[in-house]
Amino acid sequence: MKKNIILLGPPGAGKGTVGSKLSELWGLLLISSGDLLREHLKKGTDSGIRAKKYMDRGELVPDDIVVAMVAKEMSKPLCARGVIMDGFPRTLSQAAMLDRIFDSEDEVRVIYLEADDDFLVNRLSLRRVCDSCGKIYHLVNLPPKREGLCDLCGGKLVQRDDDREEIIRRRLEVYRKLTAPLIEYYRDKEILSVVPGNGRLEDTINEIKKIVKW
Ligand code: AMP
Repeated sequence: MKKNIILLGPPGAGKGTVGSKLSELWGLLLISSGDLLREHLKKGTDSGIRAKKYMDRGELVPDDIVVAMVAKEMSKPLCARGVIMDGFPRTLSQAAMLDRIFDSEDEVRVIYLEADDDFLVNRLSLRRVCDSCGKIYHLVNLPPKREGLCDLCGGKLVQRDDDREEIIRRRLEVYRKLTAPLIEYYRDKEILSVVPGNGRLEDTINEIKKIVKW
């Protein structure tokens, strides 16, 4: 029986940071659809090139591109114990697809990280990511030890193109319209728990550990 976590929440609620901590803690593979797309973009694959114009505008990438990437990742042996999903599903149709991939006996818990827009805009505009390993920093709350450089690999810290305020606002609109309906979808299945996304990482993780007792 696999143990799976779906991290749901608006951009900037901490899905990536929380996801990598939980992945370390529980030894489950973290699958970030945004990271998969950015990897494809970096490598210049056809899917990456097709996805770019949507990502630059803060829109969702068409399902066929994202679903193929996620399904491939989920078929890897590393997922044998389960996965932590960050940023997928983002639409009801992606959720239906994921339901078909999970086995009926698999455990699935959804953690909805909740935070308000002003908090999210602030967090995202001060976010920096390592260009080589993807580790996430915040200029005020989680700064690197050496300015501009990743603590883990020494890579260069950059601002994502879509972390500019006008694109952040669009991403939040898209979230509200297309992704927020998933809250009710998973609440109806009685697998959703709500956790504040604006607290300290340590507190968020402790809260999740209280809810998911693995
Ligand atoms: P993220 O890193 O999760 O903030 O995602 C960055 C961007 O990648 C989003 O604004 C979308 O353009 C795209 N993206 C990531 N995950 C998905 C998904 N599940 N469905 C469609 N587009 C996605």
